Amino acid sequence: MHAQLIDGNALAQKIRAEVAGRTQALKARGVEPSLAIILVGEDPASQVYTRHKANDSTQTGLKATLETYPADLPEAALLDRIRALNEDPAVHGILVQLPLPKHMDASKVIEAIAPAKDVDGFHVASAGALLTGQRGFWPCTPYGCMKMLESIGYDLRGKHAVVIGRSNIVGKPMALMLLQKDATVTICHSRTRDLKALTLQADVIVAAVGKRNVLTADMVKPGAVVIDVGMNRNDEGKLCGDVDFAGVKEVAGWITPVPGGVGPMTRAMLLVNTLEAAERAAG
Ligand code: NAP
Repeated sequence: MHAQLIDGNALAQKIRAEVAGRTQALKARGVEPSLAIILVGEDPASQVYTRHKANDSTQTGLKATLETYPADLPEAALLDRIRALNEDPAVHGILVQLPLPKHMDASKVIEAIAPAKDVDGFHVASAGALLTGQRGFWPCTPYGCMKMLESIGYDLRGKHAVVIGRSNIVGKPMALMLLQKDATVTICHSRTRDLKALTLQADVIVAAVGKRNVLTADMVKPGAVVIDVGMNRNDEGKLCGDVDFAGVKEVAGWITPVPGGVGPMTRAMLLVNTLEAAERAAG
């Protein structure tokens, strides 16, 4: 293997330990960081994700409450509950697990969360803060990717970063974060012509598509840093990313694995955001 591995599990563990320490310090001041997680419906993947988020929080010393509601919960009832949580000074972070049932307007629900408690970083106020370089909450997945780059001491100034994918929760915020660190950023998507010509110029590639083998070895400049956000299943049903890991690791300088890469970092950054929300509330 040529590329060095960026170990998301190890880095996430380090971040959780830091969060645990800061949480203890905050508790000593009488403030218990608290995350409210809302799950509507019985989607099995969402049930797993929300359980993980709650367990991660409690294991790190934060308080987490997981509220579950039936799939037919009226949207107005969910909005009322969010408003009540917004008003509750003992709650610092509010997370509504997506996707929501079809009868609900996800944007309307997310916009109902107080920006000061938007620990997922999906509110338009958070997006606007990122765009304008103001203090807000960064979405956990791209935030975790930035921490991975930071962990290897990578200096993004003047580097060419190519982000594949332009979703509001990964691709676009990822591009803005890279730009904030002075990278020259190219955003690619399903209509991009000649993706390979662009990725071959990249010093850093972030693949956030949701399709296997979007990035193969022939598309990577030797020594490039490759971050794989994708979560897919291979023919054997095993979790895999967007990157052809076996091929690309022979060319890249650094690479994140799937599993054990961006996934655990996403979970860790939710804890960081929740703690941050509590610290800000505590002044
Ligand atoms: P998304 O909303 O479906 O966006 C996918 C993006 O990929 C779109 O912008 C799409 O372009 C682009 N795309 C599709 N086919 C392409 C192609 N052949 N070439 C170039 N671009 C292409 O997905 P997402 O929510 O951003 O998530 C992306 C992946 O990351 C998924 O696998 C998801 O499960 C994973 N994910 C992982 C974590 C984690 O913690 N590890 C967290 C979040 C997401 P258009 O805009 O033109 O359609």
